Amino acid sequence: MATQKRRKKKKKNLTGGELLAFRVLMTACAVLLCVSTVRNLTAGGAKKAAGSVSEETELSGNVMTGADAASAQLEAGDASSASAVTPEPTATPTPDPYADKPDIDINSWEYVLANPWNSIEDYCPDVVPIEDIEVDYRIYDAMEAFVSDCRDAGNTVYLSSGYRSYDLQKYLFEKKCEEYDEETAATIVARPGTSEHQTGLAADITEEYYEYKSAILEDTAMYQWMEAHCQDYGFIVRFPDGKEDITGIIYEPWHFRYVGVEAATYIMEHNLTLEEFVALYKDDVAGATDTNDAGETDSSDSADEAGSSDSANDADAVQDSVSES
Ligand SMILES: [Zn+2]
Repeated sequence: MATQKRRKKKKKNLTGGELLAFRVLMTACAVLLCVSTVRNLTAGGAKKAAGSVSEETELSGNVMTGADAASAQLEAGDASSASAVTPEPTATPTPDPYADKPDIDINSWEYVLANPWNSIEDYCPDVVPIEDIEVDYRIYDAMEAFVSDCRDAGNTVYLSSGYRSYDLQKYLFEKKCEEYDEETAATIVARPGTSEHQTGLAADITEEYYEYKSAILEDTAMYQWMEAHCQDYGFIVRFPDGKEDITGIIYEPWHFRYVGVEAATYIMEHNLTLEEFVALYKDDVAGATDTNDAGETDSSDSADEAGSSDSANDADAVQDSVSES
């Protein structure tokens, strides 16, 4: 018993020493463990933080597509969303009868538009003489070939009126305003800036032995040849029959206008006016879509300066007559 006690005591004594050593050891381990734990925690925390960022990104993505799907996708220009939202255009296509129109720059000089609603102000082209008239130098060759080939086909051709300056038109208009009020004068003589002859791209072409400008000209072999071939040289019949409400000018089977071969071919094939052609490229061209008071123009009486009587009822013819005086 005493031995046991002693052993126990001895054992107890030993255990005390061991405990001390154990404590030291445990303390050291604890320190190491703490260091290790701190390291692990730091690394794990970083990883966890990184994971959270990623999750938050995914979460926020889910939130975006869940809560603001339509607006977010529309704002992002999402293709599938857009096609889903607006299927109508493809469901009901509207065929464009003029989808094959020429690929041209409508603002180029060939398409200058002058009419009662569209003033070209004091536009002034460089002109050159051709026979008894003047035209924009850029159409000299086309005009020369047009007239020459028509003559070669056995016709007599007379160039009766070409370029008219803004100043001449202004003089004539103001002179007319001395006799009439301005509105009435405008039905007899075109306001300066609104005559197509000011563009230098037009000419009145008549038979050498029939210079009067009237619809009767359409029966001549000369006009029929020119009407059939004009587009080959870049010209159009500028004031066709039945289009008076668009051009504001009566039918004039003598007034040809240069627009270039490509546009002329298209215009003649599709029976268009220059106003309608230009409108294919511009949404709002003055006069192109308006109905107008062409009746006033047409009803203007023969106060023309030249005194020729048969074609003085329209503004353009009046202008033509004016220029011939
Ligand atoms: Zn004319």
